[in-house]
Amino acid sequence: MSDVLTTMAYERARSVPEALVLLAEGGEDARPISGGQSLVPMMNLGLAAPAFLVDVSAVPGLRTIAVEGEHLVIGAAVTHAELTSDPLVAEHAPLLARAARQIGSQRIRNRGTIGGSVAHGDAAAELPVSCHVLEADYRIESATGTELRAAGPFSLGYYQTDLAPGELVTAIRVPLRPRHGWGFQEYSRRAGDFALASAAAGVRLEGDRIAEVAIAVTGAADRPVRLGELERSLTGQSVASAVRSVAGLAAELTVADDPYCAGADRARLIEVMVERAVRDACADVRKDRP
Ligand SMILES: Cc1cc2nc3c(=O)[nH]c(=O)nc-3n(C[C@H](O)[C@H](O)[C@H](O)COP(=O)(O)OP(=O)(O)OC[C@H]3O[C@@H](n4cnc5c(N)ncnc54)[C@H](O)[C@@H]3O)c2cc1C
Repeated sequence: MSDVLTTMAYERARSVPEALVLLAEGGEDARPISGGQSLVPMMNLGLAAPAFLVDVSAVPGLRTIAVEGEHLVIGAAVTHAELTSDPLVAEHAPLLARAARQIGSQRIRNRGTIGGSVAHGDAAAELPVSCHVLEADYRIESATGTELRAAGPFSLGYYQTDLAPGELVTAIRVPLRPRHGWGFQEYSRRAGDFALASAAAGVRLEGDRIAEVAIAVTGAADRPVRLGELERSLTGQSVASAVRSVAGLAAELTVADDPYCAGADRARLIEVMVERAVRDACADVRKDRP
């Protein structure tokens, strides 16, 4: 791809098959655009210069939210704002609603989409880390077929995801887990900024004991990170002792310094966010569920 933008073509796709044909025809120079809230700033900064934009934001098949079998299936062009207000998301994936409320400003949430967020791969973004904890998968379609890719390994590094030219994220599939409670916490210097650290947690309780727990964080690395060792150590503990056990997590993390924050400070922020997210997740477990 040329790094100098000379001309740019734009097509608004009306269906997924049409979008896939357009992307296949455009080859490496074609890019999907959805809300444009990350791609357009990157183009303004000269960091992306696609020759052909295929707008998928109004494709009806990408705008739906439905329960299908054991999953809540969210179309890729569902906006962050819609995640915050949709009743099915509130019922079956409340973590996504809570995380989406923290994204940018209302203007960003009105345009930005869940598919755009997971495809863009910002290491600090709220939705990929939440999808990791939810053990969601992504439906990826291209001219050659359809496959499902797990959310965790989909993030490959700063702004890098497991997507090839011509591939479109068409849906995010969240397993239904009615007995879990969920928590999301983040710290940013100013409201609406990208978070310096965030934590997403899901728990299932048996009585007062943690039977299952999943925790993932941003801020620790170039992608969302699952804290498998901590998850194992919290399993079987009472809620009170589990929350106390998170203390000391910062000492276990190796976080590099960067221009925004010293690594040790970020590690401490992660610890505090994890403690709060686990506490919230335990409080969120619905007592009226079987
Ligand atoms: C001021 C500002 C503040 C922001 N703050 C936050 C924040 O706090 N947290 C946060 O998470 N985000 C934040 N964002 C980014 C925002 O959430 C974006 O909406 C999101 O990152 C991308 O979604 P989009 O639909 O706008 O994608 P686009 O900008 O349209 O696309 C982003 C990338 O994804 C690709 N893409 C889009 N849709 C698809 C698809 N269906 N399949 C395959 N590839 C696709 C595009 O080709 C492009 O590479 C902020 C943005 C701005 C401008």
